[in-house]
Amino acid sequence: MINVMQPTLGQEELDRIKEVFDSNWIGKGELVSDFEKMYAEHLGSTPDRVLSTNCCSEGLFSSMHLCDIKPGDEVIVPTTSFVGAGNAVCANGSELVLCDVDPRTLNARAKDIEKAITPKTKAILLLHFGGIPCDMDTIMPLAEAYGLKVIEDCAAGVCSTYKGKALGTHGDMAMWSFDAMKILVCGDGAILHFKDPEIREKADKWLYFGLEAKSGYENSVAQKWWEFDISAFGHRAIMNNVTAAMAIEQFKKLPMFMEKREAVHQAYNEGLKDLAWIDLPLPMEEGCKSSYYFYHIQIKNGKRDELAYFLRNADIYTTYRYFPLHRVPHYGIGGNFPGADYAADNTLCLPIHQSLTTDEVQRIIDTIKKFGAKYC
Ligand SMILES: *Cc1c(COP(=O)(O)O)cnc(C)c1O
Repeated sequence: MINVMQPTLGQEELDRIKEVFDSNWIGKGELVSDFEKMYAEHLGSTPDRVLSTNCCSEGLFSSMHLCDIKPGDEVIVPTTSFVGAGNAVCANGSELVLCDVDPRTLNARAKDIEKAITPKTKAILLLHFGGIPCDMDTIMPLAEAYGLKVIEDCAAGVCSTYKGKALGTHGDMAMWSFDAMKILVCGDGAILHFKDPEIREKADKWLYFGLEAKSGYENSVAQKWWEFDISAFGHRAIMNNVTAAMAIEQFKKLPMFMEKREAVHQAYNEGLKDLAWIDLPLPMEEGCKSSYYFYHIQIKNGKRDELAYFLRNADIYTTYRYFPLHRVPHYGIGGNFPGADYAADNTLCLPIHQSLTTDEVQRIIDTIKKFGAKYC
């Protein structure tokens, strides 16, 4: 079976983890701060704006508290979003207000967001679909005009940029995921970025029980180092030296990962361009960069499901992301979102990862063509 996504791991990661074992300190330590510093530089930002946590979903959940979003406040979320985004808003007791997305890019546009704004709107929790940037030049002025916070789910946008600036550094807060199925993987881990260093300070405490001072040896100058105070009923959500060791080695491989993913993307573009029944992903806007997390095609004749089954029978696994939140019964929202509905019914994400061989890509293209010749 050709996987739709899979990580690329090597001896470098293992060697680095062995060093952590040898050090006998597997908890949060120097490697975690090293990784945070590397990532801050990668974003063209500063370490006082960057913080790691145990997963990107934690970042979504915590964004509610950190951005001062209260129960009853409305938060606009594109209906084509990761389930964790919807859960974060609802678990906070806030109102989940969905907006539509562009049927081709699957990203929310300023005009979709504006329709959902009310006097109770406090924030927009944006998703950059597959690391493809939303149009921040129209979304940020809209948010400013209405005084809304902008939270960017950049989970898959590890190397994405918008108009020359790292994706995620445009809004108030952003998060990237390094879970097992992302591009840079470390088992579980995430980075958060904050426009305001003060919110990063708040987050640092929030992600460790709300503790006012660090516990342990660091703080052993205090007379009674077992005493403490808290400033909030915070969580415990941190990375550790084992996951950071992997993350650091994976980080070094990012340029190579991007090169491979872009090559797969181009090979699909070239191999599928003559199929009139398929829409290919749109080219990037000037000055923007994708992380090539997904390669999503759209089947124009209503046969998406049939194509997915046909490919699966040929040992090629595909999928669709993200099942729209308005179709998830438990949210109780429903309604029609024409752009998101079109996308949900006609989009297919093809295999794309660093280990995909040229032969495999060719086999996928040939199988799609075979389906076309038979049914389209
Ligand atoms: C994977 C993913 C997340 C969650 O990341 P975790 O690190 O697994 O919690 C959030 N949003 C999007 C868009 C994702 O793809």
